[in-house]
Amino acid sequence: MTQPATPRIFNFSAGPAVLPLPVLEQVQRDLTSLPGVGMSVLEISHRSATFDRIAEAAEADLRRLVGIPDHFRVLFLQGGASLQFAMVPMNLLPPGGVADYILTGTWSQKALAEARCVGSVRVAGTTETEAFSRIPAQHELDLSPGAAYVHMTSNNTIRGTQWGAPPDVGDVPLVCDACSDILSRPIDITRYGLVYAGAQKNLAPAGLTVAIIRDDLVARTPEQLPAMLQYRVHAEHGSHYNTPPVFTIYVMGLVLRWLLDAGGVEAIAVANERKARRLYDAIDASDFYRGTAARDSRSLMNVTFRLPSEELEQRFVREASAADLSGLKGHRSMGGIRASLYNALPERGVAALVEFMQDFERMAG
Ligand code: PMP
Repeated sequence: MTQPATPRIFNFSAGPAVLPLPVLEQVQRDLTSLPGVGMSVLEISHRSATFDRIAEAAEADLRRLVGIPDHFRVLFLQGGASLQFAMVPMNLLPPGGVADYILTGTWSQKALAEARCVGSVRVAGTTETEAFSRIPAQHELDLSPGAAYVHMTSNNTIRGTQWGAPPDVGDVPLVCDACSDILSRPIDITRYGLVYAGAQKNLAPAGLTVAIIRDDLVARTPEQLPAMLQYRVHAEHGSHYNTPPVFTIYVMGLVLRWLLDAGGVEAIAVANERKARRLYDAIDASDFYRGTAARDSRSLMNVTFRLPSEELEQRFVREASAADLSGLKGHRSMGGIRASLYNALPERGVAALVEFMQDFERMAG
């Protein structure tokens, strides 16, 4: 492997986030001229055979990695997960219907707020009174019989919590915002009606949203919606209704290949467990660091913790950054520290962080 011109530091950012180095190197190598094409991927038409091949391969690899059956469509959309907060109710919540929302943090609250603009919604479970420090248990959910769908957020990027397994919602379609843990571990996609994710954490650079949606839900799309907001239009046009983000889809294709070559979702899940355990063990072994998420709800992707004072936290972030450990400042709404350990964050990065934490505690503790 060639060395990058400038050495890379460890990037713990919550997103846009670290991408696999071999992917970046391939992008760099092929940027001015795609092999066999003679043009940059930045310059090719989204209607070209070259891009068709790129998009088809990316979809096929995603299907393989997740295990997506034929009765689900894969859509490449734009507008981020935030547009999905609106598109989900616009497409799936009929007049007179009600949608259930399980609130586990800021992003599910935002999803709920957007759905309120569209139709009738209910909070079917929330841990807000506990500062969203844990995921609700099944028996705490109050699901509406006959709801149009149930919305959940599988991993709470800001709070650092994650569902162990999806809730049991019976026959009601489960809609999942999987922005910050898609492809981090195996899931049974058939338990969901729709899974969506902005690409900028585990999939690609920013600019692409992936939606995996069951055929019967695509069919729910009301005809009177503007075309760009209809799942059906995107499905019928193979995500080519308008110009898709060609470059981002190309990079995602390389990331998916990298993941397949690395043993797929099962293998990365083992590495992700190991990375998270190493960091949580370091937190638990000290009185200086304090994890913010309840133990049974801890996220393997975003590890959040506090130090004894905000001053120490600021110093921690500053000195970590000087030690080439970047992106550790907690979300502005939470404070504290957040280390995001997405698929492409190497295990060496976690080792370096743990060593830094131990040194910092010795100096400042
Ligand atoms: N949901 C979750 C869980 C997220 O982490 C984020 C972004 N960090 C969003 C939604 C919003 O995504 P976007 O910026 O792509 O709209």
